[in-house]
Amino acid sequence: MDFASLKAVLRPDQILSGPAAERAYDCDAYTVDKAKPSIIVLPETTEEVAKVVRWCNQHQVPFTARGAGTGLSGGAMPALGGVVISTKKLTRILEIDIENRALHAESGIANRRITDAVADQGLHFAPDPSSQSVSTLGGNIAENAGGPHTLKYGVTVQHILGVTMVDPQGEILTIGGKHGQGPGYDFLGIICGSEGLLGIVTEAWVKLTPVPTEIRTALIAFQTVRQATESVAEIIARGTIPAALEMMDRGIMNAVHAAFGLEFPEAAQALLLVECDGFDEGTVQKEMETVRAVCQENQSLTFVEAADAKERAKLWTARKKGVGAMGRLAPTVVTHDGVIPRSKLPEMLDFVYAVAKEHNIGVANIFHAGDGNLHPCFYFDDREPGVVERVVKAGEDIIRKCVELGGSVTGEHGVGVEKLDLLPLMYTPEDLAAQGLVKQIFDQTGLSNPCKVLPMNRACAEHKLRWRGVAT
Ligand SMILES: Cc1cc2nc3c(=O)[nH]c(=O)nc-3n(C[C@H](O)[C@H](O)[C@H](O)COP(=O)(O)OP(=O)(O)OC[C@H]3O[C@@H](n4cnc5c(N)ncnc54)[C@H](O)[C@@H]3O)c2cc1C
Repeated sequence: MDFASLKAVLRPDQILSGPAAERAYDCDAYTVDKAKPSIIVLPETTEEVAKVVRWCNQHQVPFTARGAGTGLSGGAMPALGGVVISTKKLTRILEIDIENRALHAESGIANRRITDAVADQGLHFAPDPSSQSVSTLGGNIAENAGGPHTLKYGVTVQHILGVTMVDPQGEILTIGGKHGQGPGYDFLGIICGSEGLLGIVTEAWVKLTPVPTEIRTALIAFQTVRQATESVAEIIARGTIPAALEMMDRGIMNAVHAAFGLEFPEAAQALLLVECDGFDEGTVQKEMETVRAVCQENQSLTFVEAADAKERAKLWTARKKGVGAMGRLAPTVVTHDGVIPRSKLPEMLDFVYAVAKEHNIGVANIFHAGDGNLHPCFYFDDREPGVVERVVKAGEDIIRKCVELGGSVTGEHGVGVEKLDLLPLMYTPEDLAAQGLVKQIFDQTGLSNPCKVLPMNRACAEHKLRWRGVAT
């Protein structure tokens, strides 16, 4: 394919190619599946994105949207090559409307920058994926990202009022806006979580939420994982919904100790990070008292509550830096994502450790326990022959168990290429065909992010088989 004619669409400095660029864009944070793009483009406006997509249609070239590339299911990996459309240069805040508690920004802006822009007004953008300092608004919308505070505040879709996007034919669409969506079908609900299959979001209006005035945070250590998981189920069963209810195990404690020198009680095998917040001091205090009582009944070793914002930030350190610190344990980390009913957490965690042992892979757990959203992180050296296949098999065993226990194949990291074989565990062929019809309505040619979620293209077969021990 000759990409020279793309130069008529964008300036030369907006086009990247060559081996170094190909390597930088051949995968996201799910690093075990890679594919080289033919070319990478850096548009600066919605109109430029539309021109590139029209060019791709004219030349029948597949294209894949990319934000910060922090996705954990291979979504931004250009499975069939073609054009990677990066939102790196779409980072402007277009309007802040404090009165209507709405902010309008381009889709390549980092999540955290939205909150920073309105913090002095006592407002924030509530979705807070742990990757928020780099992951983009567009990537958050495409994956319907969650985060530690999802338990109380909901996931991204609940905080999006409207989007401007370029559809897979290159037409510019606006859905909703500053005042939300009008009557009719919930197209915003379809776009949020569509993993770049239905087009490229270039701008969005987001809701701004007041920052709670009362915040109480505690880090609680337990001698066993079971005591911690049973506490999680019991806190919610007593009617308390903390803003965050996160869990970390000994593997994560070891990683953050190695990386940042953080100390934890020697006997601790699990930590719970619990945050209660709101606008009424008495209510928040009562919630934290319930948390303390439940943890004590489950023989917690220590219960450390933050006295001020500085101490709060310190208590959050292990949770915020835990995944990054795992690089200290092994060269490669694959973070899995599955959901189970909270009441099944004790049984599920036992199963995760048993699976890791059976496949001889290191595992550490850091996850949104209050949502029942597990993240077993396998750590290994991918140069070891056969280890990647073992990791894939272990991940599948875990996801199968999640579904068996009444949960889901993914909570927040999406299907991408990682989970596409596993969707039939949850859906009938008729369900999947109905979802395929939605894709076809938006994308008749299948050029937008092919081989992901619901592959329609025959050339995708290699991706379906690559890590199943079938492809060479
Ligand atoms: C350390 C770490 C912690 C994480 N913590 C969390 C967490 O707490 N919660 C959570 O939900 N996720 C988490 N993630 C996963 C990831 O950060 C999220 O999925 C995030 O939303 C991806 O954003 P991104 O900008 O990096 O998107 P990318 O990885 O670049 O892309 C992700 C998908 O979105 C599509 N896409 C990107 N931009 C657009 C656009 N403008 N329009 C249409 N489609 C687009 C891509 O094609 C791809 O399919 C974490 C990842 C890491 C590495």
